[in-house]
Amino acid sequence: MQLSDSFGRKFYYLRLSITDVCNFKCEYCLPNGYQHDKKNCFLSLDEIRRTVAAFASVGTEKIRITGGEPALRKDLTQIIAMISEIAPIKKIAMTTNGYNLAKNAQQWYDAGLNQINISVDSLNPNSFNKITGVNRFDQVMKGIDKALSVGFDKIKINSVLIKNFNDHELGLFLEFIRIRPIEMRFIELMECGDTNTFFEQYHSSGDLIKRQLEGSGWQLEEKAKDDGPALVYSHPGYLGKIGLIMPYSKDFCTTCNRLRVSSLGKMHLCLFGDYGTDIRHLLQRDDQQSQLVSLLHDSVATKEVSHYLHQGNTGQTPHLASIGG
Ligand code: SAM
Ligand code: SF4
Repeated sequence: MQLSDSFGRKFYYLRLSITDVCNFKCEYCLPNGYQHDKKNCFLSLDEIRRTVAAFASVGTEKIRITGGEPALRKDLTQIIAMISEIAPIKKIAMTTNGYNLAKNAQQWYDAGLNQINISVDSLNPNSFNKITGVNRFDQVMKGIDKALSVGFDKIKINSVLIKNFNDHELGLFLEFIRIRPIEMRFIELMECGDTNTFFEQYHSSGDLIKRQLEGSGWQLEEKAKDDGPALVYSHPGYLGKIGLIMPYSKDFCTTCNRLRVSSLGKMHLCLFGDYGTDIRHLLQRDDQQSQLVSLLHDSVATKEVSHYLHQGNTGQTPHLASIGG
């Protein structure tokens, strides 16, 4: 039976975090870098297989591998290959900072990865290096070139909108996607527990970009069944598209189609929810699958209609690296 909640939303899409560790220090996420905690033991290959198999049995069709930085896991290619064997998963996507994409894009694609999102907050190398805390702009851009040559079904670039930092770069990004079949996604900065001062200073609404696009011939596309809350625009003069993610906009949560499992085996119904439901104890043996499926149904039935960001309630999420943004 398809996973659905009490508001009639159906969940086809799982965002699965495979590590909290990251090698970047994005100002809005891990400004002091990842703080190593030796006690953390991230989901094993078998635990990942059982998680994906359980979600697949209740209608999940798309898995996004995320983190932290998922490409830091040495067994990433094995993880992709293993997920691609699980029916009826049709799409495997990954979100990465792109640091080793140039080297690995081909093997990830060969293992079954169909879609890739690369985070690039600025096309200006100095600004990129400043916001990420690492000097890896050229490396990431080489990764994007490689991804384009490999043949992924979809390539997206994620860019978090930051006031007076990159919110004037629309022209640069548009030029970039004029001849590249890439969906450029602008994501409004979201408030998290550890970074609320940054949020207060730098949040910038996506409305400005929306108005600029609508005033220059970009057309809003209709949503398909498994499309999430992003608004997607296209234009006949561009190979690429623009996506806008505006979590503070009205009705953002009505098209929610995704659930999350953290790298420590907690299911989260919302990025900005509570501590999550522990499912790890039911990931230890293959014969626990029916118990796990019951827990998924019970938990999803309690999903709330919306987040409470407007009331300043960011839930228990300290930063998105901890839950798989
Ligand atoms: N490390 C990978 C990366 O950066 O692509 C994957 C994990 S990262 C948490 C996933 C996405 O969340 C990135 O595109 C990042 O820019 C975005 N993100 C992180 N913190 C955010 C915040 N506070 N508001 C909006 N987006 C955020
Ligand atoms: Fe790392 Fe991604 Fe967070 Fe940047 S956004 S610090 S790359 S997890």
